[in-house]
This record gives sequence, structure tokens and C-alpha cells, in this order.
Amino acid sequence: MKAKTEKTCLDTQCQEVWQEFPEDFSKYTAKFVYCPICAEELHVQCSNCKEALANTEFKFCPWCGTEFEE
Ligand SMILES: [Zn+2]
Ligand SMILES: [Zn+2]
Repeated sequence: MKAKTEKTCLDTQCQEVWQEFPEDFSKYTAKFVYCPICAEELHVQCSNCKEALANTEFKFCPWCGTEFEE
């Protein structure tokens, strides 16, 4: 199974709002740089292991080795 690069806000109140976003909204949030709720810069993580990623251009997760979807 392939992983995805996920963007999320580290603020717990924002995370509650982010969890309400519909599933296919992730194709928009993947391009976000700042949180639409608090304007903090977003955190990029692997959808498989949830470890932080330095950038979204990686083909494989450096932490768990899972290949990312295009
Ligand atoms: Zn936020
Ligand atoms: Zn990973």
C-alpha cells in the first residue's frame, strides 16, 4: 500500500476542524502552505507513520520506507 504526504496543523483545535473536512478535500489541503483556520505554517507528515517530512517532493518516506502516491 502506498502512503500519502499529508498536511495538517499541529494546533489541536485546528485538528478537530481538519478532521471534519471531507475525504476528497485532501487534494486541496495538500497544496496549502498555511492553516486556513489559524494561519500557522502547515506541518507535512507521512500518512503511514505520521513522521514529519522536510518536503513534499519525496518519493519514499525516509522514516518508514513507504512509497508515496504521485
Ligand atoms: Zn491551524
Ligand atoms: Zn512514513
